Amino acid sequence: MSEKVSVKHVKGECSAQGKAQYLQTAGGKITCLRCTVNSTRTKLQCGRPAIKTSRTQKCQYHGGRPHSEETLKRISDANTIHGQLTKAAKQQYTHSISLIHELQDAMYVLKMGEGPRIRGPKPKGYKPVRTQADLVRMIQERLLHMV
Ligand SMILES: [Zn+2]
Repeated sequence: MSEKVSVKHVKGECSAQGKAQYLQTAGGKITCLRCTVNSTRTKLQCGRPAIKTSRTQKCQYHGGRPHSEETLKRISDANTIHGQLTKAAKQQYTHSISLIHELQDAMYVLKMGEGPRIRGPKPKGYKPVRTQADLVRMIQERLLHMV
């Protein structure tokens, strides 16, 4: 059974972005909210009706279905491959690499090392260690808070 669906714009019902808010289906018998997504391929507005429970007025293909916390967790788990790019892993990496930079600076302050230093931009949270006072500060901030 194929039902012909005609899409007509309801006059005077456009949003600020120039998108149609409503559409009529079933030969003009049904007026419903229209999905507000523009197609990346055709640059035209999606022609499907929006889901009634959608907060952002989207159809089922453009993410209009509200997700529970459990569903969001399931989607996240399905799309997580190895966990190296999670927020917690990135924060741990930034913390560790800034500690490595500071320890290298401390070695130069104490004249324990020679050779080339780590090049490139320094990570967030990095505080340069140039004097012995900076070294004492680093030890107090970093190493004593690790315990
Ligand atoms: Zn859509």
